[in-house]
Parts: sequence; C-alpha cells; structure tokens
Amino acid sequence: MEMRMSEDTEMGLDLTPPLPPLASSLHDSHLRSHCSACFSPLPPTVLVNTNPSSSFLCYCSPPCSASDSPLHFSSAEHHLFLLLRHSHPSTAHSSDLRAALRLLHILHLPPLHTQPLHRICGLLTNLHHLISPSHNSESDETLTRIRDGGKAMAIARCMRDGTEFSGDSKLEEALLCLVLTNAVEVQVNGGSALGIAVYDWCFSWINHSCSPNACYRFLLRSPETPQFSGESRLQIIPGGNDEIEIQNAVRSKSESIEGCNVHGPRIIVRSIKAIKKGEEVWVAYIDLLQPKEIRHAELWVKYRFSCCCNRCNASPPTYVDLVLQETLAHSLNHIDDNMCREEEIRKLTDYVDDAIADYLSVGNPEACCGKLENVLAQGLPDEQLEPIEGKSRANFKLHPLHHLSLAAYTTLASAYRVHASQLLDLHSEMDGDELEALSLIKTSAAYSLLLAGATHHIFLSDSSLIASIANFWMSAGESLLSLARSSLWNSFVKGRLPFINLSSLQSHKCYECSLADEFEANFFGSQAHNGGLENISKQFLNCVSSITPKVWSFLIKGHHLCKKFKDPIDSNWLQKMETSKIWDFQAHSGCTAMDSSSWDEESTGGYEAQRDTNQERKNLFKLGIHCLLYGGFLSSICYGPSSYLTRYIRNLVDGEESLTGNSSHEMD
Ligand SMILES: [Zn+2]
Ligand SMILES: [Zn+2]
Ligand SMILES: [Zn+2]
Repeated sequence: MEMRMSEDTEMGLDLTPPLPPLASSLHDSHLRSHCSACFSPLPPTVLVNTNPSSSFLCYCSPPCSASDSPLHFSSAEHHLFLLLRHSHPSTAHSSDLRAALRLLHILHLPPLHTQPLHRICGLLTNLHHLISPSHNSESDETLTRIRDGGKAMAIARCMRDGTEFSGDSKLEEALLCLVLTNAVEVQVNGGSALGIAVYDWCFSWINHSCSPNACYRFLLRSPETPQFSGESRLQIIPGGNDEIEIQNAVRSKSESIEGCNVHGPRIIVRSIKAIKKGEEVWVAYIDLLQPKEIRHAELWVKYRFSCCCNRCNASPPTYVDLVLQETLAHSLNHIDDNMCREEEIRKLTDYVDDAIADYLSVGNPEACCGKLENVLAQGLPDEQLEPIEGKSRANFKLHPLHHLSLAAYTTLASAYRVHASQLLDLHSEMDGDELEALSLIKTSAAYSLLLAGATHHIFLSDSSLIASIANFWMSAGESLLSLARSSLWNSFVKGRLPFINLSSLQSHKCYECSLADEFEANFFGSQAHNGGLENISKQFLNCVSSITPKVWSFLIKGHHLCKKFKDPIDSNWLQKMETSKIWDFQAHSGCTAMDSSSWDEESTGGYEAQRDTNQERKNLFKLGIHCLLYGGFLSSICYGPSSYLTRYIRNLVDGEESLTGNSSHEMD
C-alpha cells in the first residue's frame, strides 16, 4: 500500500491534521516519569501520590486516568505486568507487547479462521517474513522474541479471563508482528524516545524512502492543552492496486475505531519538498546519513524489506552514497585488491565504533579524541596492520565525508567539550587549566562547524537530508555562541577584557542577509514569508563564507588535524581530495595535545591583544548566530515554525550566560 498527494503542495507544509494513535505505550523506563495516556511529563506531585504497588501506570490528570485505565485492565496489560514481574523482573522491554495487547483488545477481531493474518485492520503484519526461520542469528532472535512475546501476551489474557492457556498464541504473535512492523518511536522536543505508537493506515501506509519528500513530528496533547486552530486537512490519499483494501480502510476511517487513544501522542506529516498531486509521499524510517549497505541491513532487521527507492536504485550510485563510503588509499599497490579493501574497511569500522563506544561507556574523552584523530589522520595504527604473507598492507584512510568520519566529528565535538568541563571541575582555580579548557572548547566548536560544513556539502546534492543538516547547523551555532560568551576569555588576557555585549541579536544584527528577519517573523507567528530555501541558503552561505576565514585559523590554532581542513564551509578542497596531497598527514606525536604555549605570548600583549580578543569573539558570535538561525530556518521547514526549536533558539540567542562580573567594569 502507499499514500499519494491529493493536490499539489509546497515544501514545509503540514499534509495531515494531528492524527491520534490506535494504540500507544510508554517504554518501561518512562513509566514513572510520564503520563501513560498522553505521554506528558508528570508533575512532581503525581509521582508522590502514586503507590507503585497498586498500579503500574501513572497519569497526569483525572481525564487521562479515566480514559486510559479501563483499557489497561481490560486489555490484560495489567496482567502482563504481573506476569513479567515474576519471569523477567529486571530486563523487561514490554512496550511492544503492551501496545499489541491494547490493539488486540480495541480491534474486536473476528475469529482467527475467518480472516487471513496477513493484514489486520489494513495494517501489514509482515507475519510470514518475521517468523519464517532463516539462517542468520539476527532473524532467530526476532523469531524468539515474537514467539516468547506472543506466548506472554496469551498467558496474560488467560490470567485476565481466569482460563487455562491452551498453548495457542497465533493471534497474539500476529498482533505483535503488526506492532513491530508499524509502530514508530515517539520522540518530542529532541529528547530520547518516550515510547511507541501505532497509527492507522493514514500514516502506516506511507512508505519509506532513503530520499524522502516528507517527515513527521509528534504533538502531545494533554487534556489541558487547548486545541489549536489552523490545523491542516488530510491531503494524502491511499494509492496502490488493492481496491478492496483501500475501500475497507476508508470505511474504517469514517467509523473511527472505538476505544482508540484520544489523548495519545498525535503524529503530523509534513512536506520537505514540493510534491505534485498524485505523487507518492515517503518518509524515512532510519538515519539517512549512512551508506546503502548499512541502510539496507537496518531496514531488513527492523522491518523485513529491501528498499528499492530511487536513491538505492541509482546507477551509478548517487554522489551522497559514493562519498559516504569513500576511502583514500595511502599506498596504491593494493588498490585493486577488493578483498584487502573490504577487510581494511571492516577494521576501520570496528576501530572507530570501539573508540566511540568506549567513550560513551567509560567516558574518557581524552583517550577517545586521541584514537579518533589518529585514525582520521593516518588510518589504522601500525599494530592493526600486520602484513599478510609477508606483503605490506595498503593503508586506507577515511574520506572526510565518509560516514565514519562524520560520526567521528560528532563524537569529537562532544568529547572536547566534556574534557573541558572535566578539567574545570577538577582544578578550576588554576590559570593554565582555564587556558587549556578554552582551547578545548575552541576545538569542540571547530569540529561542530566542520561537521555542519561537510554535511551541508552533501545536502546540496540531496535536499531530503534537511532534518539532519538543520541539527548540525544548530549545534555548530550553539557551540560557537557558548565559546564567544565564555567567561574563560578573561584568563586569556589576565582578567582585563573590555566588556562587549553578546547577549542579544539586535546589538550585532547582520545587514547582509535576512536570516534574523526571517526568524523574527517565524517566532512571532506572522505567516512564514518563506524567503525560499534557495534564497535563504544563498544569503547564509555568502555571510558565513566571509566570516569563517576570519575565525577558522584562530579556532584551529595549534590543532594539527583541524589544520588539514582549509575552510570548513568552502568545499572546493574536497573536490581535489583524490589527487592532491592535502590530506597527506605527517604523523605528529600527540596530535591532540593543545599547543597552549602560543597563547601565553599573545596574552601578554596588552591592550591590543584585548581588543583583538574581543574582535575574535564578535566574529565567533556573528558566525554562531548565523549558524543557529539558519539551522532554525531549516528545522522550521521540517517541524513547523512553532516547534520547541524556535523557542530554544530564541533563548540561546538572547542567552543570559554571557559575560558577568568584574570584566564588565573594565571598559571605562
Ligand atoms: Zn495525561
Ligand atoms: Zn532506499
Ligand atoms: Zn548575514
């Protein structure tokens, strides 16, 4: 099945009203912190008043409790909790089982033998794909999960009815497969997934593409939230060959299923490209900044289908897919040896993944930065390259746009920031440490800017990456802004820094572009005048390409790896990659160590140094504001002008955490 446009549409418009879920369930980890009906965070008083032994779920308000708790008991969700508490007390991930039980209860399905289990309520169950045994262990895990889960659901239903379990759990398995195939993770305000929800065919029939033209967002609507006006009509209609299925679906829509979760998290589909009437609408089910092989593996594991979208079928592969797995051979002797290449890529992948996983679990940012920067600069370390049969091995390096490089920049930006705050926490009284911390924060900002610039280059050839790119620009902006406003600059010029006001947009408004006006118009809800993506992007790139050269050499001073990037915004150097020696990196011992000695010379330079320092900060601030507003502009295309991101950016722009204290009196 598929969904198509019923009329022509522009980019950045809602294609559906907020659609309520058929069923939703919080992940186990959020059961005590969020309302099980509407998914809103619970007020602290609710937590206190909830007796954990009497109920497994919490509600924010009487209406949520009144609408949801009957279903909790009648669907046997309650009994499932009792059952799981005895069998797997600590490792319960029961949200999919609970959503399946709830669905099973509200659907009032006819007896099994009168209907095929291929589709239930118009939704694909993928039953035959998911439970057919296969040769790889991944599928066996899924099979076990479905068999065990179906059985637990069936037993819980028997407990509810006071009957004996007959051993048959086919129907429960089918419902669980339906949930695994159709449920989406509910994420709001950029946080982690709160739970899952299953929507009717209006959303569930929208197919995946690796180059989608639409995206979706969630809207929480607790009973207190007023309905807002201006909701869109449904502009997508079912397509495909199965007329009967379509008629059934449309009929079920008008009847509206009894008991569906009226307070549950709603979903809104929105266009990220202009779409013509009759064209199919696609969303992405996975992260799109991954090469084809990884996307396919993920789609297969999660949804059991092989993607044949335009991007996947392109021959030759699209530019984006080429660069995401581009490598550079250090020694060309073995370049034809595909076996060798694959083996090397596998090792590189393991090495980068391990370094990132180590950092996330152990939290040693310094060690992680060292490893990642070495592998980016030189490929695998020597000890990983034992020769085969006496032949020395080709050493492959990652292209700066390789998906592992992108993952590495993301981690480096975070790790340098964490390292800085660890340093300040430990010995905040020492001057030298403050200098080094500032240096680390600079490097963190450099990596976020590099990441945004690099992925923007990819975005230029595939605009469906817009949501990821919006995020990268916003993080770069946030990072640059907090660097510009850091109080650590005082240690740089021995506490005599003249005051500059970096707390509001107005004092440093850019007259070269209309980003700020665009943002204000968005923020105050006047109809987004949509300067047009192309127009705004052009203005933005003009501004940042003139500011970046003023700050880049300063940002990367003393940092040997970053120096290899001539300019993070101008991607001309990328095109020369294959042939030139730009990337040829001479091993520096300790390339992560900050060269803070060069700072001391400058910091003794008196008034001029202070003035220069403030000029750098103004430029960093200006660049940061541009990145932030542009990221906000892109995100308003994906999530609408009134999303939490707009407020978040507003707060960052008007940040109060700018210079305070002594420094402000130095000016006169
Ligand atoms: Zn609620
Ligand atoms: Zn695809
Ligand atoms: Zn500008």
